[in-house]
Amino acid sequence: MSIPTIAKKQFLSILSLSYIVSDEFLDFLEANEGAQQFLNSWYKLFEAQRDLVFAGYPKCEVYQEPYLEDLCISFLEKFSVRLEKVPHTRPVIFLSHDLDYLWPTVQLRAKSFVRSKSYRDLFYSSKSFLKSVEAFLSFDKLGGEESNSTVFVANPYPQSGIARIKQWVLDPSYNSEHPLFIELKELLRAYKPSIGIHGGYYSLSESTLVNEINGLEKSLGETIKLSRQHWLNLSEKQGHESLFNAGIRVDSSWGFNNHLAFRGGVGRAFPLYVNEEESLIEIPMLIMDGTLFYEMKLTEDEAYRKCCRVLDKVFERKGQVAINWHGRGADPHWSWISLYKKVVEYCQGKGFDFRKMPEASEVMNAHV
Ligand SMILES: [Zn+2]
Repeated sequence: MSIPTIAKKQFLSILSLSYIVSDEFLDFLEANEGAQQFLNSWYKLFEAQRDLVFAGYPKCEVYQEPYLEDLCISFLEKFSVRLEKVPHTRPVIFLSHDLDYLWPTVQLRAKSFVRSKSYRDLFYSSKSFLKSVEAFLSFDKLGGEESNSTVFVANPYPQSGIARIKQWVLDPSYNSEHPLFIELKELLRAYKPSIGIHGGYYSLSESTLVNEINGLEKSLGETIKLSRQHWLNLSEKQGHESLFNAGIRVDSSWGFNNHLAFRGGVGRAFPLYVNEEESLIEIPMLIMDGTLFYEMKLTEDEAYRKCCRVLDKVFERKGQVAINWHGRGADPHWSWISLYKKVVEYCQGKGFDFRKMPEASEVMNAHV
């Protein structure tokens, strides 16, 4: 039996976040058929996490623990392999915000109404959500000079045909030419969070991500290497390779819209191979506001307890994950920022570090 190159590289890259992979170990892998079978089975589970997630909704197993990381350890035990452990990494939280809306659009109000059946959602009005965005950026300073967070900004590229109609419903309604975008740019300049692209729903299937990135780079005057796909709409190897080819080097789309779980079975930033040679860094997105309130229908207290429990699992393993609160979440209509502040304060008390996503590579390789 042989092991496909990409499977071997993916397995070894995750194993090597915790253990030093020696030449003897590689020789052992080449020679042992049972070990090869184990590794191939592991990669099938990993592939399912990559490929079988549709618009953030899993068609694969959902892991409540970093299960595929644990399987690497089981592998070593099963085959009585002794590898030297690498020193621990720092437990890190990457604070992040997707900016889906800059004002309450018809689409947002209709979607909220469908979920809540509350006319309060349907007739809600407000000039803009920029005050809400600012409330997050201000809190994210965490006592420092700049916002210690990453903001994913949308710039959807107009699709054609039927996709244009679906896009009107699904995608953010603003782009880099909208008047509110000028005010948004001022906020970003003042608070200095890191900025990534919030790729449109069809940006990968219709190959328009590059146009979205180019437009955003031109508008902001900086290079964009970070991404999170809108609706977490990222699946299949091809989609990941398209991200890489568009210049993305750190992605944080690996999460679920309806589960508080470890997509990828990994609780730390890891190299994600997009083909046999190239990889980007994936930062699993573990906790998101809408998941807790809309999908899981939790009260703030219930959500807080669940967040603490899952963050404890990350901390015990000295892992690194992203949490995501949408830009409108500090608007009084939602008031989701209250839970956000409590969760961040819990992480501070626990001893997590807070880093911006461009530091992912450094974080992954810094041992204490
Ligand atoms: Zn979004």
